[in-house]
Amino acid sequence: MTRTAIITGSTSGIGLGIAEAFAAQGFNIMLNGFGDADEIEATRARLDESSTGEVGYHGADMTKPDEIEHLVRQTEARFGAVDILVNNAGIQHVSPVEDFPVNKWDAIIAINMSSAFHTIRAALPGMKERGFGRIINIASAHGLVASPFKSAYVTAKHGVVGLTKTVALEAAEHGVTVNAVCPGYVLTPLVEGQVADTAKARGITEEEVKNDVMLKAQPTKEFVTVEQLGALCVFLSTEAAASITGASLPVDGGWVAQ
Ligand code: NAD
Repeated sequence: MTRTAIITGSTSGIGLGIAEAFAAQGFNIMLNGFGDADEIEATRARLDESSTGEVGYHGADMTKPDEIEHLVRQTEARFGAVDILVNNAGIQHVSPVEDFPVNKWDAIIAINMSSAFHTIRAALPGMKERGFGRIINIASAHGLVASPFKSAYVTAKHGVVGLTKTVALEAAEHGVTVNAVCPGYVLTPLVEGQVADTAKARGITEEEVKNDVMLKAQPTKEFVTVEQLGALCVFLSTEAAASITGASLPVDGGWVAQ
């Protein structure tokens, strides 16, 4: 049986890496996220070609509950089920709390946290009915510890960790596991943008942000890779991972061990 995965925010960065890992295992995939239409179609076609499953795309905006519901329903209609749900879409804004733009706060809470509630609300009944499901929330090391100037992001990611534990308990007897993956720094477009913003907020150079702020937090002194995160998500989707639920799994080079 070919399993089907929705991966939100999979047109770039970590989500795309996770989609590539699932495609290599022959899953059906529903991609989601923003970007240039031709580039998205090229990505979809490339993954479709590389997978024995089928790869589709839905452009739902993760700030819009009705579009999120449509993403889940369309995936069920096309593939017959949503077996794996990866809540990955996310944005960042770096600013002292007293200057934090209200619209950025609202957008980060909506995309990084509430969208996971909306996808889960729509997808969980089908998973329970079929007795199988894997919900993987891409939280962050910032779901476990804080850094200054990231109030909305840290709030949203701690919220995702709480949602993960709660839904894990509710779904535990139905063959559905719910886990949070908590990456440290991964060099994606999201982090590249943050380098400039953090340099401004802290009054230091971009090189200093990379070496003295980001990799300083990671004892391995290496950025985490999208391939490492994709492999973990694939593992969490197997039968071997059936007893891992409600967990927040750091993939952070030792950051939160300190
Ligand atoms: P990215 O900017 O490369 O990708 C973000 C994805 O989300 C893109 O596909 C984008 O189109 C999509 N997206 C943004 N707003 C959306 C919306 N309103 N509706 C639908 N899709 C939307 O970022 P990334 O670094 O790959 O981040 C992916 C996830 O991983 C985020 O939740 C982020 O918080 C988390 N994360 C990233 C890092 C890191 O170091 N990069 C570390 C920990 C956690």
